[in-house]
Amino acid sequence: MNRCTIGWCLDPLVSTGSLGQQSVDPRPLVGRPSRTMFCRRRATFSLLVPLLVVSFLLYSLLSTSTSSSLSERREDNEYINNVQRAKVEAADEVRAIQSDVADVETNVVVEVEDEKEREVNLTQLAIANTKEEKDAETRGFEKYQFNGYLSDKIGERRKIPDSRNSRCPQTFGQNLPTASIIVCYFNESPSVLIRMVNSILSRTPSPLIREILLVDDSSEWPDATEAAKKYQELHRKWNVVKFLKTDVNEGLIRAKIFGAKKAVGDVLVFLDSHCEVNQDWLQPLLEQIAEKRERVVCPIIDIIDAMSMKYVESPVCKGGVNWAMTFKWDYPPRSYFQDPQNFVRPLKSATMAGGLFAIDRKYFFEIGSYDEGMEVWGAENVEISFRIWNCGGELLIIPCSRVGHIFRQRRPYGLSSDSMRKNSVRLARVWLDDYIEEFWKVRPAYRNYTEYGDISKRLKLREELQCKSFQWYLENIYPELLPNNSPTEFLAQPSSQGVKYHIQLENETLCLSAESNGGRIAGVVEMRRCLRDAREQIWRWTSTGELRPMGSSTLCLDSFSGAKLMRCHNQGAHQKWAITKDGKLFNASSGKCINATNELNEHANLAFCSLAKTFTLLPI
Ligand code: UDP
Ligand code: MN
Repeated sequence: MNRCTIGWCLDPLVSTGSLGQQSVDPRPLVGRPSRTMFCRRRATFSLLVPLLVVSFLLYSLLSTSTSSSLSERREDNEYINNVQRAKVEAADEVRAIQSDVADVETNVVVEVEDEKEREVNLTQLAIANTKEEKDAETRGFEKYQFNGYLSDKIGERRKIPDSRNSRCPQTFGQNLPTASIIVCYFNESPSVLIRMVNSILSRTPSPLIREILLVDDSSEWPDATEAAKKYQELHRKWNVVKFLKTDVNEGLIRAKIFGAKKAVGDVLVFLDSHCEVNQDWLQPLLEQIAEKRERVVCPIIDIIDAMSMKYVESPVCKGGVNWAMTFKWDYPPRSYFQDPQNFVRPLKSATMAGGLFAIDRKYFFEIGSYDEGMEVWGAENVEISFRIWNCGGELLIIPCSRVGHIFRQRRPYGLSSDSMRKNSVRLARVWLDDYIEEFWKVRPAYRNYTEYGDISKRLKLREELQCKSFQWYLENIYPELLPNNSPTEFLAQPSSQGVKYHIQLENETLCLSAESNGGRIAGVVEMRRCLRDAREQIWRWTSTGELRPMGSSTLCLDSFSGAKLMRCHNQGAHQKWAITKDGKLFNASSGKCINATNELNEHANLAFCSLAKTFTLLPI
């Protein structure tokens, strides 16, 4: 007997009523138990009934046999028959249960089949033959600034390459916090949005998803929301998806706050509406926050090419910023990856790109969510980054968490206002202190712009949170941005013979010394008490810009991996030094200067020139 037929299980709208008739389940689809759940419950129920029947029979037979007197007892044969009948019935039940379980398994397979991701041949799909097809492709591009036509053809799910480094862990911490995934969208492509949600549902352990909030920021076109709602009706896994809509188009900054206020998960995960998440992307983010709640974490953003829709792995890099307050990517030097663990190690990032990050929900509001005075798009990512670092938090990029994002050349909205001007001026006036002069230098027209609105609440927030100064941020988090990192005034390079110097730390009695081990010069440079005759403290600055210690004929001061002595290669680059008029030793290839502490025997190192110590060069 098939109690839980495939047909019944496949139709969640119809359930068997208590009298055995079919009745329509009045509950909405959202939040209802799954098809498999119906079957499992029935299977469990079926398991319980026979067990109860068998126990009852055995109990009554047994109690009859003990409580009755011999004369009242039934015949032995009848007793045995009863027991055997009970056994047969029990066996029947067991067989029925096994058949039910088989049904459940068949159903699971059916569902997995439904959700299978297919390899798509993008080149073939992209071909537009007819005029209609070509027109559709052009229209798609005009509408979304990416290949919406191709996206529709790719469909609701697809395979993408697992872009994680092979060193990434495969197992994750237990008891991770739950996530509210917030996706704000404005005029998004329906197929892109649906494929994105499917990627989340199939590549994330479901217990970690508290909800997926799709926030329609009052799009001009209703199609994405309509399509997603329709899709939800047919796909029960989508019951974690909730639809929200702003009253008016708020711009992504206020739309995110709107979504965050409705969220209930432990952690907020913001994603742009044109992403596809990669395998096990969420756990590495949640692990970091579970370890420290003031940690804000970003995945590596892989690239979904706007034209070909190809998913391409991004290198490990981090967020930076320039004086115009525009975000930029900074790539660690090649030497950083000499330690292969650095392909997977979380790395501190001065700023975030903005679209994709995870943050503890309560912490997000404690540090002042976003500046609601900002419009549409821009600078909010830099503002929240400064706030995180300066007010006690930290911002990390997690290389083992990867999410693909469609990068487009320009945004198909917000053309009517220069939101970047207003937003960056708000940010600069709240956070930059005296360094705002650097901002005005690169954005002179903004100095007299007065329409930036009221920033008093944000200044008050900065005070209440007792945030550090911008000077602190520059010196400790992003020295790359310090003014004067690239010195401009140098001593003239020597002619053929070179010049010999003692290089003495200014106002100290310590000199730069090539470490000599029993006369043999080794690899490091350290600070030693200045000795007039010590050959390892005499440096020849050659006409090609090398700094050669007199104790060795083959070694040069090199900046490839710190300040070290390496075999001279006559190629300049990391071995070419310029000496500034105020006594700094600058290497253009690394963009850094020699730095040292005033501790005896400490190794010299490299630093951004603004922070590097000054030396007195004593000609010999
Ligand atoms: N967005 C929004 N409201 C707006 C403009 C944009 O919700 O008024 C959404 C947009 O649909 C996207 C996210 O905000 O999901 C980030 O915008 P976009 O992708 O255009 O920015 P980019 O990735 O180019 O920085
Ligand atoms: Mn985007």
